[in-house]
Amino acid sequence: MNQASLDQAFQDLKSVLGERVTRAKMHRICYSRDWSPRHRSHTDLPDIVAVPKTTDEVVEIVRIAYRHRIPVVPFAGGTGMGGGVAAWKGGIAIETKSLDQILEVDEANMMVTAQAGITVWALNEELARYGLWFPHQPESKRVCTVGASIACDSDSTFGLRYGKILDCLSNVVMVTGTGEALRIGRRKASFSSTGYKLLDLVVASEGTLGVVTEATLRVFPLPETRLVRGYVCRKLNDGIRALERMLASGLCVESAHLNCRQRLHFYTHAYRQQYHRDPDIPDWAEAILFLSFAGDEDVVNFSLEKATRILREEFRAEKAKEQEIVDGWWASKHSLEFIPFHQKWPDSQREKKFGAADLGLPIGRVEEAYQRFLEIAGRWGQEILGMTVYNEAPNKPTASISFAVFVDDSNDESVTNFYNYVKEMSTMAVEMEGTMSSYIGDGDRLGGFNRLEHGDSYTYMQRIKELFDPGGIFNPGKKFESRWISQA
Ligand SMILES: Cc1cc2nc3c(=O)[nH]c(=O)nc-3n(C[C@H](O)[C@H](O)[C@H](O)COP(=O)(O)OP(=O)(O)OC[C@H]3O[C@@H](n4cnc5c(N)ncnc54)[C@H](O)[C@@H]3O)c2cc1C
Repeated sequence: MNQASLDQAFQDLKSVLGERVTRAKMHRICYSRDWSPRHRSHTDLPDIVAVPKTTDEVVEIVRIAYRHRIPVVPFAGGTGMGGGVAAWKGGIAIETKSLDQILEVDEANMMVTAQAGITVWALNEELARYGLWFPHQPESKRVCTVGASIACDSDSTFGLRYGKILDCLSNVVMVTGTGEALRIGRRKASFSSTGYKLLDLVVASEGTLGVVTEATLRVFPLPETRLVRGYVCRKLNDGIRALERMLASGLCVESAHLNCRQRLHFYTHAYRQQYHRDPDIPDWAEAILFLSFAGDEDVVNFSLEKATRILREEFRAEKAKEQEIVDGWWASKHSLEFIPFHQKWPDSQREKKFGAADLGLPIGRVEEAYQRFLEIAGRWGQEILGMTVYNEAPNKPTASISFAVFVDDSNDESVTNFYNYVKEMSTMAVEMEGTMSSYIGDGDRLGGFNRLEHGDSYTYMQRIKELFDPGGIFNPGKKFESRWISQA
């Protein structure tokens, strides 16, 4: 990419977008990072920021970028945690958040079609007018977009009932690396056994195959009642086995998040700070299981009563006496706030940041992984925040686990240690027959060594990338390279 091509591309973009394209440094700074811990010296400014409003405009932008062989980085809410939006090879940041229109609410088929830059929050505000909701909801839903939830394969608060985004996604429009708008998926059907499942390729592609500009999604009736409770358990495994029992008994649980002792201490600490008294948590508590139930009032009441009985009688777990602790957890799922850091969106430049290895593991290895997390975090000098097991498949316990630490973003050595910690945790996940990332994605963290997980199929992934993006312009430096650690 030379200066002359950039200058020409900028002029070409101006003729398509007018004032909605800029090279001003002040604007480029706003598109230079997400929430991932980063070295202070890594400024990663894109060269140009372009703000399209339609698929046709995205097509034009990509054609210009392809002609001049300039990188293109889709940039949505900027809440990603894997460095997915960092333009460390320069290029054009395509800001997707002006693609924010709802195109169709199809009540008869319970589907909505929207432009992909709409936030999950705004989509739900509109759906509520119809008595509907889109239950795929990352905690960052006030800012994160539908397109990025697809691009990252995010986890959702309500995953135990509604699954990952692929469980609600039936169709997308994606602009590929030559500037072609492809309609990909199964229209409004829930299944298709024709062709290849290209929709699956789009999910978790992190802007390396194209820009998603539209999505068709399954929606559901808004539940009438919701109850949220917490239970202290004697072992992490008790929480998992109790959940297995609840689901086997026929209960329908909406969300289940299992937290280790350190995370529990964080919640009790927050309680002490706010209410100036000690919560009544037994010494034996090694974990806290937060559950939510939603639906008709009588069904919800029955479910809660039955779940409490299973936990108490079969696992000697106890209901958390302070409902304020449970409410604090629930509020944190909806307020875009990292309470341990007193950090609110868009306050991403604080020194102490949230950092996590996000592993997907077989359900039987959670206790073992927790012990190894303590060792590995200790070896890399990480300050531990704790472990949370998210359940992200409908009606079965699954382990999408956040192994979270505090990272001092003002200190390059601490950031480097954090990425070494992530690499060692990733290696552990592969050894345990799991995956190196279950919701953050490769970003610019894992690409340098994720052949560890994928072996020879990694070569096929590179070929797929070439097919969708023959000029190699889409989000270079992601998935197949790492900014932090390159050796396998
Ligand atoms: C407070 C907080 C809470 C969070 N909670 C959760 C959570 O509960 N679950 C979870 O999984 N994650 C969570 N995250 C991480 C993050 O919010 C998700 O990864 C989210 O999907 C990112 O959305 P975004 O719109 O901010 O995307 P960005 O950070 O802007 O982009 C993320 C990636 O997607 C690509 N991309 C964006 N839009 C498109 C598009 N239209 N087409 C193609 N590629 C695109 C980008 O290039 C980049 O690689 C949280 C983050 C924060 C700060």
